[in-house]
Amino acid sequence: MSCCHDAHIALTPYEILRLSRSLNLSTTEFIDRHLIEGGMVLRNLADGGCCMLGDGSCRVYSDRPLVCRTYPLLRVVRGQAESFAKFMPLPTTLGVYGEAGTVGDFLTEHRTAEFISNHDRYFAVLQRIIAAIAAAITSSPKLFPVVREIIERRTEFHAKTPARLMDVDVVVGDYCGSRGRACPREFDDVIDLHVTAIEEIAEDLRKGVARDGSPLDHDDGAASQRWQNQLADLSELAGALGAAADANVMLMLTSAIFGLPNQGRAGTSK
Ligand code: SF4
Repeated sequence: MSCCHDAHIALTPYEILRLSRSLNLSTTEFIDRHLIEGGMVLRNLADGGCCMLGDGSCRVYSDRPLVCRTYPLLRVVRGQAESFAKFMPLPTTLGVYGEAGTVGDFLTEHRTAEFISNHDRYFAVLQRIIAAIAAAITSSPKLFPVVREIIERRTEFHAKTPARLMDVDVVVGDYCGSRGRACPREFDDVIDLHVTAIEEIAEDLRKGVARDGSPLDHDDGAASQRWQNQLADLSELAGALGAAADANVMLMLTSAIFGLPNQGRAGTSK
């Protein structure tokens, strides 16, 4: 359990939902009880142990986050290319490290496929959010410092309150409530709807800018406020997803604003 001490584990919404369901909690309850640094990082206890450690083992082992599955491998994604780097395990680890076996065998044994595909799915969501924010900033350049501050607060783990759009149950509840439909109960349906809801918010922002330009330039105060709230929510989420994916969100954003080639890159490490 050396690697379960003094770790810094940032989570994607998918991982937050997995862990909360494992403990029979809503995502809101899980975030309140077990996450710190703006509702993104697993809390460590006074002895440095992860708050998910139970009596000598991980109490959410079958739902543990991706970094706990891939350790001591570092997953790196650059464009479409994926690679795994081996970094030195902690000196206190009792793990047995040899040259037998393959990375593929290791990943299969630790059931990483579903986690990796959902990481990549949220990273793709992040890229679409970046496109929507870039369109908004191109329309209203004076918003750039505001957006940058929000994103940096998240990526540097300085935020005090959780990002609203990271709370899967709240987002899905709002989405279904506003459409008069029942909330799904199955795990996969919930996560699908979370992704859909976020994508629709990002698409609304992007389309609104394309159609009307910046609402800040019009007289409608309510529309302008709604637009700014949406931009702030998406910026919070971009920072949080970027931090969880170890991606450089500001580089992605400036590349998108200036129309440079996609700088998308993500990693996964404890
Ligand atoms: S989630 Fe489980 S495996 Fe991961 S660090 Fe915490 S206790 Fe260890």
